Amino acid sequence: MRAWVEIYKENLIYNILKLKEIAKNREVLGVVKANAYGLGSVEIAKILQSININFFGVANVEEAIELQEAGINGNFLILGRSFNEELVEATKRNIHVAISSLDQLIFLKENNLNPQIHIKVDTGMTRLGFDVDKVEEAINFCRENNLNLVGIFSHLSDTDGLTEETKKFTLEQIEKFKQIINNLDLKYIHISNSAGITNFSDEIVGNLVRLGIGMYSFTGNKKTPYLKNVYTLKSRILFLKEIHHESFVSYGRHYKLPANETYAVIPIGYADGLKKYLTKGGYVLWKGIKCEIIGNICMDMTMIKIPKEIINSIKIGDEVTVMDADIINDLNIDEFCAWEFMSGLGKRVKRIFI
Ligand SMILES: *Cc1c(COP(=O)(O)O)cnc(C)c1O
Repeated sequence: MRAWVEIYKENLIYNILKLKEIAKNREVLGVVKANAYGLGSVEIAKILQSININFFGVANVEEAIELQEAGINGNFLILGRSFNEELVEATKRNIHVAISSLDQLIFLKENNLNPQIHIKVDTGMTRLGFDVDKVEEAINFCRENNLNLVGIFSHLSDTDGLTEETKKFTLEQIEKFKQIINNLDLKYIHISNSAGITNFSDEIVGNLVRLGIGMYSFTGNKKTPYLKNVYTLKSRILFLKEIHHESFVSYGRHYKLPANETYAVIPIGYADGLKKYLTKGGYVLWKGIKCEIIGNICMDMTMIKIPKEIINSIKIGDEVTVMDADIINDLNIDEFCAWEFMSGLGKRVKRIFI
């Protein structure tokens, strides 16, 4: 193999159960959108089902259909907004939909469509959702027209920000949501994402939490200390060379390697999800020893500098660890985003469940 990601089931289950416990055993909706953040939505959904989590969050109707066709039976909620034709498809397949505007409720009514509806409320994310002062009208419309309103939810925009100011903002979002759900009796009431569970555990409201990145030990761009590493990205040494005169490495000639140094090539590049910014302080590990990423990361290959002390022991074919939670914790790169990195893993990277 050239590049692969190992996914550790036991650690994944440990993290989910730990977070469920922190959420005071509320029901968990497993967010498996974007191919379960790149790891494989069918496999992750099966693992979730093995611990009795049968409600899945997806980004669009196609993702839900893919899971249904793979034999995952459970409830699905499309977290984002659907186009009208997607609402038709979701209704046929008994998939829950999130509704952000009255025109879609009217569309459902006029077309005799009656999917399970979750009203989405904008409490500060400013992406989708009804404004807070329009929610009552939406709920009333559902009730008057016998639409199948089963849930209400909102999304927190800054739960991993931990300054006093960001905390205050999150608490204001939660407060707005509390005002809305006051006296509402619905089957599903939810607002917390992963960092909403860990960083605001005493402020969770409703009866469901939406768990995504936390499953993989992150609730921000760093690993949460009490959670376990779930995925490790690996590759192998493809080529080794000692240079005899000072040379620029890779495209654009941004990095100059001095004479008499050795570098290696690993067959993983930005098309596999190894972001180009990782050359700014990124490294891979060979038997625990750091080998700095040098020069521009290419589409299919990356160059690393081989420290003098391992030149005589490193060989073609040797495995290197390209990314795991410890490396991520150690990185000091502003552009790094835990969600983006995972979901950006390319198609060529083999997913190996262990
Ligand atoms: C993606 C998403 C989540 C999951 O967020 P994490 O930070 O990964 O836990 C929850 N809710 C909504 C609406 C989402 O779009």
